[in-house]
Amino acid sequence: MEFQGRYRQAQTSKYDCLLFDLDDTLYPLSSGLAVACRNNIEAYMVEKLGIDESKIPVMCNLLYKYYGTTMAGLRAIGYEFDYDDYHSYVHGRLPYENLKPDPVLRNLLLSLPLRKVIFTNGDKVHAAKVLSRLGLEDCFEGIICFETLNSQPDPPQESSKTDIFDIIDYFSKPNVSIEDLPKTPIRCKPSEAAIEEALKIANIDPKRTIFFDDSLRNIQAGKRVGLDTVLVGTSQRLKGADFALESIHNIRQALPQLWEEEDKREGVRYSGKPAIETSVTA
Ligand SMILES: [Mg+2]
Repeated sequence: MEFQGRYRQAQTSKYDCLLFDLDDTLYPLSSGLAVACRNNIEAYMVEKLGIDESKIPVMCNLLYKYYGTTMAGLRAIGYEFDYDDYHSYVHGRLPYENLKPDPVLRNLLLSLPLRKVIFTNGDKVHAAKVLSRLGLEDCFEGIICFETLNSQPDPPQESSKTDIFDIIDYFSKPNVSIEDLPKTPIRCKPSEAAIEEALKIANIDPKRTIFFDDSLRNIQAGKRVGLDTVLVGTSQRLKGADFALESIHNIRQALPQLWEEEDKREGVRYSGKPAIETSVTA
């Protein structure tokens, strides 16, 4: 495999930073937070923005598909709301109690002799809560979150529905152009510009960084900006992913190279096979 060949030439110096998505990457999808989050977003759209309940599922899918997050899409099509209000509503009632301390992941992360940074579309309160619940709050150098890339807009005007772009109606017509969709002011994955901005803020060199995310489109966008990529949550190495991990707990088996510098410094503390002979696609 081309990637493996390339890796062999520079085994121990290839990476100096690990960039991790948070939700459904550092904990499993089965925790139920993603489903609860989706339900809360839908409730916010009905209760706070007055959107007709019957339109919500189709609208959510379109906004998520074309804008990266439903929130980014809502802003694009003309809804104005306070970002903190949105986040506290959507994340405030999540079943955080489902997340338990993860000492296995904690030990893996702390034993990695590389920079570790979180990059999430979520807000900082949510990120802090998740990391605290998982017992990982001191495992990362920093967190790039919603607030890092997006400043709060001017206070919202009284919502005027006459200015709302009808995205469902737009896509019900033939031959519509994605280019003509209204633009969002929100910066988030999988926008390549947002990823590049995040890398710049954290002083991260994409060529020396490996990016973990459970979203294939985020992984593919990461690949396009020059990151090496690990798709988490599946063992299938889909297009755009250099590696794939069923669970983040498999990181050492799939990527033993990441520990090589430490092993050299401290003697071989682990009995894993040499990286060169190990399947790196998990
Ligand atoms: Mg995720």
